[in-house]
Amino acid sequence: MDTNAFTQALLDWFDANRRDLPWRKGYDPYHVWMSEIMAQQTQMDRVVPYFRRWMERFPDIRALAGADEETVLKLWEGLGYYSRAKNVLKAARLVVENHDGRFPDSLDAIRELPGVGEYTAGAIASIAFNLPEPCIDANVMRVFARMDDLSLAAGTGELKREAERLVRSTMPEDRPRDFNQALMELGALVCRKKPLCDLCPVQPYCAAHEANVVWDRPLPKAKKGTVRIEMVTGVLVHEGRVLIQKRRPDDVWPGLWEFPGGVMEEGESPEETLVREYREETELSICPEEKITVVRYAYTRFRVTMHCYLCSCPGDPAPVFHEATEGCFVAPSALSEYAFPSGHRKLLQCMEQDIRFATLLIR
Ligand code: SF4
Repeated sequence: MDTNAFTQALLDWFDANRRDLPWRKGYDPYHVWMSEIMAQQTQMDRVVPYFRRWMERFPDIRALAGADEETVLKLWEGLGYYSRAKNVLKAARLVVENHDGRFPDSLDAIRELPGVGEYTAGAIASIAFNLPEPCIDANVMRVFARMDDLSLAAGTGELKREAERLVRSTMPEDRPRDFNQALMELGALVCRKKPLCDLCPVQPYCAAHEANVVWDRPLPKAKKGTVRIEMVTGVLVHEGRVLIQKRRPDDVWPGLWEFPGGVMEEGESPEETLVREYREETELSICPEEKITVVRYAYTRFRVTMHCYLCSCPGDPAPVFHEATEGCFVAPSALSEYAFPSGHRKLLQCMEQDIRFATLLIR
């Protein structure tokens, strides 16, 4: 990813599209803090009217610190998670007592306030004080899982650490405040769970978009016992015929036919996997040409993502089958006479609608 170009495109988009939110006028630390606490577990649209009422009643930290708990809870009514209201009251009193009523401006001091965790401290430090601190929420993790095409599951510590590393490496020194907000805003409005890639300002830098795996990034949290597998398969076309092989009797789906391929190993690209698998399974040195599609299917506890390629092989290919009982080149019009497992059937359906195969698959 071209990090400078990505950062600039993101900031340009934010400058033109940022939501008009009341705490973004002047970025008063008290306002930013309250907005972040209210937005925990609550949709932004719902936060705005609560925020406005709150600021009318408690215009500054001293006003809040002087309130009684009952009044605070009454004003919080409907936002839920009432421990947040109790914590902001405690924190306001601490700010008055220990910081003379001025909201602390260092990450460590912010983190010491009741109700402020790692994410909220980073958000306040960067948004209120423009400090270069990351704040990694689910939106930011989703954006970077897609931007860098990370095969990591949503909500995991591993994805969080990787997202933090990427935020630090792409954050511009002079605009941490805008950068963090832009990332979160992009995740909330464009790179949503159902992404709007056509409207995305950073689409040219998005590896998942390029690889057509947007819907698989991040990986869903694995249910207990669920195993995710990424596979590659290649349709080798030679003189108008395609190569298929028959699975062994001791294999999954014994006796069914398939296009050769296999499971991606750590650090391999799909193309590298395909070349290796073809060599191991058939002794052929193939060239992956174009990606046909990505097929997803499930069986028992396995959730499979299968990258499918069109391949060629120089010379006159003579396969030797090591992972199959037999194999052959067949005319595409004859493929319907063979039984394939569901993933390969999906691939066949896709090929039937793909203009590149139109001449090959005419029955
Ligand atoms: S191109 Fe799509 S998946 Fe990639 S960052 Fe943009 S919205 Fe997200």
